[in-house]
Amino acid sequence: MNYIKKRRLFTPGPTPLLAEAYFDGFLNPMHHRKEEFKSLFINTQKALQEVFKTRNDLLLLSSSGSGAMEAALTNLLMPGDRAVIGVAGKFGERWVELAQTFGAQATVVEVPYGESVDPFAIGEALERTPQAAAVFVQATETSTGAAIDLESLGRIVARHKETVLVVDAITGIGTMPIETDAWGLDIVIGGSQKAFMAPPGVAMISVSEKAWARIESCKRPRYYFNLAGERKKQKAGESAFTPAVSVIQALNTSLTFILKQGIDNVVANAALQAGVMRAALASWSMALFPRSSGNAITAFRTPEGVDPAKVIAVMRDRFGAHIIGGQGSMKGKILRISHMGYCDFLETLGLIGCLELALLEAGAPIRLGSGTAAALEYYRSNTGSDH
Ligand SMILES: *Cc1c(COP(=O)(O)O)cnc(C)c1O
Repeated sequence: MNYIKKRRLFTPGPTPLLAEAYFDGFLNPMHHRKEEFKSLFINTQKALQEVFKTRNDLLLLSSSGSGAMEAALTNLLMPGDRAVIGVAGKFGERWVELAQTFGAQATVVEVPYGESVDPFAIGEALERTPQAAAVFVQATETSTGAAIDLESLGRIVARHKETVLVVDAITGIGTMPIETDAWGLDIVIGGSQKAFMAPPGVAMISVSEKAWARIESCKRPRYYFNLAGERKKQKAGESAFTPAVSVIQALNTSLTFILKQGIDNVVANAALQAGVMRAALASWSMALFPRSSGNAITAFRTPEGVDPAKVIAVMRDRFGAHIIGGQGSMKGKILRISHMGYCDFLETLGLIGCLELALLEAGAPIRLGSGTAAALEYYRSNTGSDH
């Protein structure tokens, strides 16, 4: 038989889209120098400021998230400048690679995959790194799911007048509380294809006055990723170059939905899916991989002898559901399931049911229905009748 299988992404980007978000943008793109688009652009920035909880400038860059990471580093740091980098996995390693590529001197605070970077360890590294221009971290390290305590980190970095705090919140925004202004997060980076329910192609970056002062004193030559240049243009609803018009239109629609829902409720939705998933894991006696996990993804080790690649293949071929394995040193060792984007309880429950079948087929000793029962119990005891 060839049953219908819908393609469903439980991957940490791209994530499930809000369907109405892309029709208009892709079938009927606007012209980026016309008034209609300029007002949509400014409206998108305002909505993002609400989501980021900031009054700082909020710039849109037409690139994937890594483009905004590169922009942050190259606009803040000259060759030879010092920085402190927190590394808890693959995306922290990306900060280190960027620093190496652009000639910054990095003091690296590294923890094993599955652990979280301790803000106090960053504070100690700052003491050892005089005149550090910046601290770079991930809000959630997507290769493991580990989250960092941003509020404490903000307090620690704020004591260093010369040092700008840069947060890759690409999977943090929309999945954990992020108070950009209240916590003193100077630069916060997001990506359209994660919790924003929009297609890939746009990165967003908020920039504080402290960060602007540093950017203005940094004389590294720059061309495409010129934040000060973008700031000028974007105040008037334009960008220096042709932006990803269709994605920005889509993002604008999904932001309307997100703000109507309420950003705190979008975070709570990710937390609910994560909680449901973890209740199922516990019922299978499989441990959540990181000690301190955010809600963006759930990562877990499969039991001895159960090949994650086999589980991934069964989920894809039999059910059309895409989950992914480990990155970096966790390749072949873990499974990762995203809770970002336009997803709900019914989908998570279906995923858990199919995962039980796939895990069984891959040789895991689980009792069919134990995970779904645990998920239903979790749902019943953690949600009221008023949701
Ligand atoms: C997805 C992601 C990125 C950016 O990846 P791109 O492929 O460049 O969009 C960066 N950091 C984290 C933590 C991510 O999850």
